[in-house]
Amino acid sequence: MSNSRFRAVEAAFATEPVKAVPPAPATSEYYGCNVFSRANMRKYLSSDTRRKVYESIEQGVTLDRETAEHVAAGMKRWAMDMGATHYTHWFQPLTGGTAEKHDSFAEPYGKGESLEQFQGKLLCQQEPDASSFPSGGLRNTFEARGYTAWDPSSPAFIMGDCLCIPTVFISYNGEALDYKSPLLRSDAAVSKATAELLKYFGVKDDPVFSYLGWEQEYFLVDTGLYALRPDLIMAERTLIGHNSARNQQLEDHYFGSIPGRVIEFMKDLEFECYKLGIPIKTRHNEVAPNQFEIAPVYEQANLANDHNLVLMALMRSVADRHGFKVLLHEKPFEGVNGSGKHCNWSLGTESGTGLLAPGKTDKENIRFLMFMANVLKAVYDNNGLLKASVLTASNEHRLGANEAPPAIISSFLGTQVTAAFEDLLKSKDMVKIMSSRGFKTGISQIPDLLIDNTDRNRTSPFAFTGNRFEFRAPGSSANCASAVTVLNTIVAYQLTKFKEAVDKRIAAGEKAMEAILEETRLAYKAAKKICFDGNGYSDEWKKEAAKRGLDCTTSAPESYDSFNSKQTVEIYREMGVMTEVELKARSEIYWEMYSKKIEIEARVLADLTANHILPVSTRYQSILLDNVAKMKEIFSAAEYKKVSAAETQIIKDIATHTSEARELAIEMERGCDAILQLKSQREKAVAFHDRIVPYLLKVREHVDALEMIVDDDMWPLPKYRELLFIR
Ligand code: ADP
Ligand code: MG
Repeated sequence: MSNSRFRAVEAAFATEPVKAVPPAPATSEYYGCNVFSRANMRKYLSSDTRRKVYESIEQGVTLDRETAEHVAAGMKRWAMDMGATHYTHWFQPLTGGTAEKHDSFAEPYGKGESLEQFQGKLLCQQEPDASSFPSGGLRNTFEARGYTAWDPSSPAFIMGDCLCIPTVFISYNGEALDYKSPLLRSDAAVSKATAELLKYFGVKDDPVFSYLGWEQEYFLVDTGLYALRPDLIMAERTLIGHNSARNQQLEDHYFGSIPGRVIEFMKDLEFECYKLGIPIKTRHNEVAPNQFEIAPVYEQANLANDHNLVLMALMRSVADRHGFKVLLHEKPFEGVNGSGKHCNWSLGTESGTGLLAPGKTDKENIRFLMFMANVLKAVYDNNGLLKASVLTASNEHRLGANEAPPAIISSFLGTQVTAAFEDLLKSKDMVKIMSSRGFKTGISQIPDLLIDNTDRNRTSPFAFTGNRFEFRAPGSSANCASAVTVLNTIVAYQLTKFKEAVDKRIAAGEKAMEAILEETRLAYKAAKKICFDGNGYSDEWKKEAAKRGLDCTTSAPESYDSFNSKQTVEIYREMGVMTEVELKARSEIYWEMYSKKIEIEARVLADLTANHILPVSTRYQSILLDNVAKMKEIFSAAEYKKVSAAETQIIKDIATHTSEARELAIEMERGCDAILQLKSQREKAVAFHDRIVPYLLKVREHVDALEMIVDDDMWPLPKYRELLFIR
């Protein structure tokens, strides 16, 4: 075996699993040890300081200067006891991922001595030189000022030797430059709107939060093979590669036994997660070969999202230890399933009442239907915006590709809830409606709604699953905050309008519950078109959805217009989540990111074609040409014609594919150059979508054809069958 590809394949298949961690103690013994949790605060902060911190967490009160000093001192002592030497403000810029700049606690002073320092002001606010983060025009680069400010509602934690302090990232004028600040604002908005309505149900002093339980899908690839794929390294997906004869058609990977190397990786990852208090619960194989999933127990959305971002970073570093690269891209391989990140979303009170779950009493069930109808109405009114929040250059490959939800947002409710709503449209007798539909009413009984969970519709993007909605459109590499912020904001707005309408009725003399039921009925009636229980992959649905007026665009750049629509601006302004300027900036950044991603893919593909594929293909072609020429010497003319026919055809095929691939790649690059001259970010992104994306496919077609022709011995890039089957 001569070429580097073969050596890498050999090594990948011979790799022994690395033992994950020394025999682990019971999880409960070390769970959360790397988090500045309440338990750790008790050891390092005075009771007075703790009380103020809790107040700040629970009521959003800003900490006074003196308390901040105490917290910083305690946090530093704890971190140093844990072996940390540095600290960082950890934030979530719109580039994706997280950002951190490590500063040492050590503060040199005098002659060759130093003292460990960490002051309250360093904890609360910093001013990183942030000129290289995208701001969508919010911050002139010459000003370069972005501020990070401590988010006490998400506890500080230690990664490696660094104390990480979760922060928001905002501009000089307080405009959001990150994912976290709008999420926090939207959570406050939905919390307020929900609490107002809960007063009708006798619930007081029980703060409401949005909750999130994500399910992270990912691929693992052997590091040695990954290193030989410039496309994986530069674009996180294979831009070329012929399907292997076997991919996922045997459906033998899903829930199958997990390969030894992978299990060791998973154990190691879980160990690291538990130390950071990330409540991982589930691990399993996914549908595609080499595809897996990890999911935690749900938490308050802000914390859950921070945990997901920490997890994504951990995955990469832990994978390195096991000789794997983790791929979080939504579509690393053509022809097999891509990866998503289902966001299970709900509203609930701090004391544990789920507001999207049916209750035990009639009143609780009215409350349930009320929240359900309002969520549906919000999603119906803003379905385009919700989609825009999850469409990216990479997630475009997934949505609508018969493996993930279509690029049309609809909701699945299940038969019982649908029937309850339909009855509600006809009759006012709630008790009768609920009990006739299997909702056991009456104080002592437990509702039976979970029956529907067993046959839930897998093709629905926004499916009700018993006590929450499962939003299945977010991509595996996404920051969930993008989708959750939209959900929180549109639902907050809808609930606010709903309450106004109810209040009006009450003022006119209606009884509260009757007013609520009537408005619930109207909300459901208005939102009904968002409900769809059939096959979301079918072409009929696409036609039907267009008829219903749902947003059917599949182009990410076009969908970003939703951020700037009059309706969105109004909703976000009224809910205090983002101003028109912030929304505009966001769409600018999304367009810019889209263009950059596609341009990188085009450049990498052109490079691969010119420098890897064409030279090898023509070399193989020369061997064949040489062979055919020499045959002529030993065969008669008649014989020669017969024996050389097949090979001659191959030579011609290679010539066709190489010349086409070369032409197309050149045109594609020229196309990129021309698009870069366009003026606006929107124009550029739309052009990359409309003009360059089709080239990526066309070039690939020829390259993939060449892969099937050229001598396996000469092919430089690891093939799908090698990348996709870990042993
Ligand atoms: P499945 O693959 O069947 O959808 P998983 O167990 O993989 O289910 O993931 C379900 C996710 O939903 C978990 O993260 C779970 O904690 C979360 N979840 C359960 N109940 C709620 C809820 N009320 N609100 C938000 N998330 C929830
Ligand atoms: Mg799952």
